[in-house]
Amino acid sequence: MYNDVSLFIDGQWTASSNGQTLPIHNPANGAVIAQLAHATRADLDRALDAADRGFKTWKKVGAYERSQLLRRAAALIRERAETIAPLMTQEQGKPLAEALMETRAAADIMEWFAEEARRSYGRIIPARAEGVTQMALKEPVGPVAAFTPWNFPINQAVRKVSAALAAGCSVILKGPEETPASCAELVRCYADAGLPAGVLNLVYGIPAEISAYLIPHPVIRKITFTGSTPVGKQLASLAGLHMKRITMELGGHAPVMVFDDADVAGAAKMLAGSKFRNAGQVCVSPTRFLVQEGVYESFLAAFSEAVKGAVKVGDGLTAGTTMGPLANPRRVDAMTSLVANARSAGARVVTGGERIGDKGNFFAPTILADVPLSADVMNNEPFGPMAALVPFKTLEEGLAEANRLPFGLAAYAFTRSLKTATAVGNGIESGMVSINHFGLALPELPFGGIKDSGYGSEGGSEAIESYLNTKLVTQVGV
Ligand code: NAD
Repeated sequence: MYNDVSLFIDGQWTASSNGQTLPIHNPANGAVIAQLAHATRADLDRALDAADRGFKTWKKVGAYERSQLLRRAAALIRERAETIAPLMTQEQGKPLAEALMETRAAADIMEWFAEEARRSYGRIIPARAEGVTQMALKEPVGPVAAFTPWNFPINQAVRKVSAALAAGCSVILKGPEETPASCAELVRCYADAGLPAGVLNLVYGIPAEISAYLIPHPVIRKITFTGSTPVGKQLASLAGLHMKRITMELGGHAPVMVFDDADVAGAAKMLAGSKFRNAGQVCVSPTRFLVQEGVYESFLAAFSEAVKGAVKVGDGLTAGTTMGPLANPRRVDAMTSLVANARSAGARVVTGGERIGDKGNFFAPTILADVPLSADVMNNEPFGPMAALVPFKTLEEGLAEANRLPFGLAAYAFTRSLKTATAVGNGIESGMVSINHFGLALPELPFGGIKDSGYGSEGGSEAIESYLNTKLVTQVGV
């Protein structure tokens, strides 16, 4: 049952102060399924005031208690996963099995940060003079403004909110307007676990207006954003102007290098599964398929075959669906234009390349081969069900292509050679490299990009650091 979605401010679920709402659509059929409360400036002011007070309360709560609260929230989301996941499928489109996995994985992330909450140690630094004690203390940075997107409505939010709460920060979360209900249910789990009023607030509205108001606001001490590189750059420059701490998890354009000595059949099968997960709307999705000349045609044949066998497009609520519609009509337009551009540049459309039907945002799993490097799809992240294949001759040539773009989020390689694997691990300019498997995005692993893909980590013990200040206290007993 999909219901209207409210704001959550100062511990209360609430309508917008002027009653304003935005429609929520089901991407599988375009139907309006509910209304979303749209925050006004007065609502944002209430959220800022609540986050300010919430921080003063929460920073005094001991690490053990913060940890216990995150564990209770984890238990709640696990219990509720089967009612939350269908909401996500209805608003975002992904198959129910993927929605369930994402919802359950949130509990895993909360538990990781529950553990980290108790381990945000400072240190004692040996002094030069007798009687001096020098302490590097870790303190929460303050109220956080977090902006999260529509591709993983729970996952993108749970990483930021759990890290912030573990550190002792309060949060205003601007959730994804197109996929708001599952994100709201995540917030409900923290609230029902006993989080004091004001510590976590949830708003929706016009993203540019909300960020322009919250980022410079003196209450907000830290910004965290997941989304596209152009928006990330705008928000980072605004944050810079106001000297706010930031974490930016932005777009990528992940190269996957398949070498002559790879297990070609195994790689093709694994890539057919991972490429079309969430219809390719994944920041770490493999997108530029760089295949060494000797196995180019055999990989293309095996990959196309594996995609035909493994990917079944349909409504995410229908049993057997492995790929749902795209989350919004913008992505369908983007896919259509990337295919037309690649075709005119001389690429081969091996499979797909078209919208499916005229109802809902369905687009066929698409494989493009022999794509010239000048084509749009080789330069701009497709963020959809599209794989673009290009041959390469030598390791050096492959690495040069992998590193050609300004992005550096995820990269993949398939090879049986330890020497090649080591050269790729060392040579790729990327925040994450996964070789012969897909091993990214576990809560205990660092997760983040370099270059235009952003900075800061949303996983591993690095993640909590960006919500902590280091304060030096040096003292002498008198
Ligand atoms: P977009 O650039 O308009 O928006 C991307 C995200 O940023 C959305 O969640 C949006 O609400 C938010 N946003 C946009 N302008 C904002 C602003 N001024 N202040 C605060 N938040 C703002 O594009 P889109 O059509 O929604 O998504 C398409 C592109 O975004 C994709 O091509 C992809 O590169 C990127 N994206 C990346 C991720 C990721 O996980 N890194 C997630 C979603 C989208």
